[in-house]
Amino acid sequence: MDNADTIKEYLVTASRILSHEGLVEGHGHISARIPGADHFFIPARRTPGLVRFEDILTINLANNEKTAGEGTPNSETILHTAVYRSRPDVNSVCHTHSHGALLLSAMGVSLRPLTIHGMYYSDGVPIFQRPVIIVKESYANEMAKALGPHRAVQLRAHGLVVVGPEVRRTCVETVNYEIEANILIGAMQMGKPQFFTDAELAEFKESSPQGPDWTTEIPLQFRRSWNYYIGRLTAQL
Ligand SMILES: [Zn+2]
Repeated sequence: MDNADTIKEYLVTASRILSHEGLVEGHGHISARIPGADHFFIPARRTPGLVRFEDILTINLANNEKTAGEGTPNSETILHTAVYRSRPDVNSVCHTHSHGALLLSAMGVSLRPLTIHGMYYSDGVPIFQRPVIIVKESYANEMAKALGPHRAVQLRAHGLVVVGPEVRRTCVETVNYEIEANILIGAMQMGKPQFFTDAELAEFKESSPQGPDWTTEIPLQFRRSWNYYIGRLTAQL
């Protein structure tokens, strides 16, 4: 199990990746549950691409209050708190205003997998229909209810929330979501998308080296993607 400082480092890297890949611009945030504690880590209110180790705050799940760290919490911190409270299986939450997810939710279309990038979203992606910024506990609870047992929820007119069992995987899955959203948008423009049948999807998953559906260890293929995005960051510097 990763220690607290390692998880903070992952959050710094993930924030920079999400920015570099064009998913968060000046807004958006990714968090991680602290193993064995009723708290989670999340960067302070700051442009994600500029997040530093010392910007990582500790938030208490019981009252959504900061218990450690320098800086002001993001106005949508309650979004993360509500998901961790309602989903004990979730160890990381990512929120973006990414354009593909925005366009789909604006059109009332939820993501369905067409390719390898979206295959973990085959159980459906709900759309949270209330067009608001998640700054109130009541909004956050409604959104968490809309998310239910799924891996993501699209926020109408606002963006996307992706959840996962491990922070690096959640970052990669969020990038994959945007890739698949854009493939779906392109496919709808071209005509009638050719979705998987249930049997095809099962066989596709079976044949994939991506690893188990939900595990606190990062599967090899996600680790490779994570390292790829780090490489892109490094090349940029
Ligand atoms: Zn937002």
